[in-house]
Amino acid sequence: MPRSGTVCEHPEREEIDRALVGDASNRLVASLYGVSEVAARRHKTNHLPAKLVMAQATEEVAQADDLLTQVRDLQRRALDILDKAEADGELRTALSAMREARGNLELLAKLLGELDEPPVTNVLVSSEWVSVRTAMMEALSSHPEARAAVAERLKELEAG
Ligand SMILES: [Zn+2]
Repeated sequence: MPRSGTVCEHPEREEIDRALVGDASNRLVASLYGVSEVAARRHKTNHLPAKLVMAQATEEVAQADDLLTQVRDLQRRALDILDKAEADGELRTALSAMREARGNLELLAKLLGELDEPPVTNVLVSSEWVSVRTAMMEALSSHPEARAAVAERLKELEAG
């Protein structure tokens, strides 16, 4: 168990985590939140599982996309066979191609339904949001009161 560091105990740990999960550099995070670059790096390496969770979710979406592509390909072929069988008057073949096509449609609908359940669409952990947030905090760094007020409001938003 790696011992906790200054970042873990930092009052703005959540913000730091978001910045590190996004593409803010260790150096930028260090200067923004008054921690050392080494502490930021160690925290990111040892204490920040969120990044891995997101990477895993992204991989699952990619796998689902791949499945979808394969089912669409199957469907295209089933419909080709159906066309050909109908043109040739081979009704048994046409019927079984129709059954195949119906099965593919059901599978497609199921896959699309699963993809509809938002995978990683939490805007508050998106790298765009992290960039905007980081830029805002940076711009406000010479106005500590305004910075604190904005940070407080954002914390409320992010708490949902
Ligand atoms: Zn830490």
